[in-house]
Order: sequence, then C-alpha cells, then structure tokens
Amino acid sequence: MSKIKVLDKILQDKIAAGEVVERPSSVVKELVENAIDADASDVTVYIEESGMKSIRIIDDGHGIRKEDAPLVFERHATSKIENDYDLFQVRQLGFRGEALASIGSVSHATIESFNRESSPFKLTYHGGEQIELTDGKERVGTDILIENLFYNTPARLKYVRHLKTEAGKIIDVISRVAIAHPNVAFKLELDGSTRVQTKGNGNLKEVIADIYGLNIAKAAIPFEHETQDFNITGFIVKPEISRSNKNYIHVSINQRHIKNFGISQAIINGYHSLLPKDKYPIAFLNIDMDPKLVDVNVHPTKLEVRISKDRALFVLIEEAVKATLRGTPLIPEITHDE
Ligand code: ADP
Ligand code: MG
Repeated sequence: MSKIKVLDKILQDKIAAGEVVERPSSVVKELVENAIDADASDVTVYIEESGMKSIRIIDDGHGIRKEDAPLVFERHATSKIENDYDLFQVRQLGFRGEALASIGSVSHATIESFNRESSPFKLTYHGGEQIELTDGKERVGTDILIENLFYNTPARLKYVRHLKTEAGKIIDVISRVAIAHPNVAFKLELDGSTRVQTKGNGNLKEVIADIYGLNIAKAAIPFEHETQDFNITGFIVKPEISRSNKNYIHVSINQRHIKNFGISQAIINGYHSLLPKDKYPIAFLNIDMDPKLVDVNVHPTKLEVRISKDRALFVLIEEAVKATLRGTPLIPEITHDE
C-alpha cells in the first residue's frame, strides 16, 4: 500500500489557513481588502473581544452573485484574475482566492450578499463545510460575520488567546487601509466603542487628522513627485514632530499598504540631520506605478513586494523628501512623542 496520500480538502484548508490567517487582525485585513476590491465606499467593522468572539464587516460594494455563492469559500476561487497575464499586473488587493477558504475552515462564517444583477443570499459555513444557503436581504453589498475563530485548531486558539496586543493590531490594520484609501469611509468599533472613523471624502489630510489628530495633520507638508515610472503623492510631516519607531512611515504602492526597508530608509535619509538621534519621521506616501513593475506575489500576506527599478525609486524618494523639507519654514514648537 502506498504511504503518500493526498490530504482531504478540509485538512488542506486548515493547513493553508496557518499561513494566511495567523491571528484575528489578519482576518480583519483580508476581509476589509475584499470590501475595497468590491469598490465599497463605506466599510464598517465590528469587533468583539479582539476578534475572538466575532468579527463583522459590512460593505456597500458590488456584492456577490448568488450563482457564485458555492465558490466563495473554495480555495483558489477568485473573480479577480483569470490568467498569468492578469497575475503579473494585479491592481486588486486580493487575487489568490485563499482568504475566505482559509478563514472558513477555522471558524463559523456567515456571509450575506447582494449583487444587483443577481438575487440576495445568505450562506453559513462551519469549519470548511457548507451548512446552509438561503435567501438574504436586498441590500447591495456584503455583510460577513466570523465567529469562534480557531475553534477547531486548539494550538492556534491557545496562542491567540494569549495575545495582548490584538485590539491594537486591528486598529492598526484599519488605520493603514484608511490612509491608503481616503475615498472610502471606514468605521471600526471595538466592543461597542468607535476607535477609527474616517469620512471617505478623498481628503488624505482629513484622514490623517481623523486617525492621528490635528497636530500631525497641521504639520503635514504636501508631497508630490512624478517621473516617467513613478507618481508619488501624499504628505511628509515636519521634522519637529517625530516618533521613536518607524511605524509612522506609511507607504503604499497603488494603494496597497506595504513594508519596504529601502523605501523607509530613503525617507529617513531624506530627513537626514533634521531629526534627533533615534527619532523617525512620520510620512504618508502612495506610489502609483505600472503594476507590471511590482511583484506582489512574494509574501503570504502581500505585505512585502518586489519592485523593479527599486534603486532609482529610493534615490528619487530621498531627493524629493529633501527638496520638500527645504521648501518649508521650520516651526519652533517641539513635540516629540505625544
Ligand atoms: P481573493 O480576494 O483573493 O479573490 P477571497 O478568498 O478573499 O479571494 O475571496 C474570494 C472571492 O469572493 C473574491 O474573488 C470575490 O469574488 C468574492 N468576495 C469576497 N468578499 C467579497 C466582498 N466583500 N464583496 C464582493 N465580493 C467578495
Ligand atoms: Mg481577498
């Protein structure tokens, strides 16, 4: 008898879930990204007990057709790409068709959705198995509820229960997505209290004020720099206000929040001697570029990406930060780390 066996689908999904949905905040990130990919202009997130009791996300995007309901929780099932040509120029945040399969395999999920060209449905899915598919409400958009996360993966459940910082991570996820999408109104409620709220009127400075307060928004200098390959826009904050870590350097590429050591370093170098030792700048930059020149398929959560012409981009950012700061009179008041 052969020793090698193909694992059953439910077990395959559970194993894969370990990569994509490490903790409640990663579930929130995936679900909010799906709402944005559906062109939502309003996204509301309700979290109970740091996501361990429930995560509910309501969007006003285009919704899901009822015909597609059976595929929603299938692995590698996506509406976003069809071939490898698409894969190498992804504009959407998702494309792998993995998130819902992973989340659905380690939780009790209920999704209610309505797309105008189809009829509304409500689907419940428990631990990788479809429980029920019924009619839903006629409200365009999607309402997804995740309960009992990791109930069937005991080690993960134990690990996640010990996380003290999860609420903070969820606030961070929503804040970063909101900054990358000033045209979407976000609201995050944690155990009934509103923690993040943005208006979605497209004004990034207002989003910065809504999330980080007026002081930082007032000290934000508009940043605009365009070359043949890159169009970089956003704000960099006057060096009088700084932070003791790099977490306040926000960078997105084509509105996807990313982490890139080289870009952060280029921004820091642009401030050079204007910052005290061990202090880091606050910045909010989006880089628009041809999606063919950035590979987003290199990291499980797509936080890290590979950029062609990255050296040129680093030099450009450093020089542009220097020039932008030079054009600004320094303000005397000093407020490091509020
Ligand atoms: P991906 O985002 O990589 O396509 P997901 O597993 O996150 O994969 O979602 C699977 C599919 O379900 C998506 O391609 C999309 O068609 C649909 N979907 C999920 N969430 C939403 C939503 N909030 N609004 C509309 N469609 C959605
Ligand atoms: Mg997705």
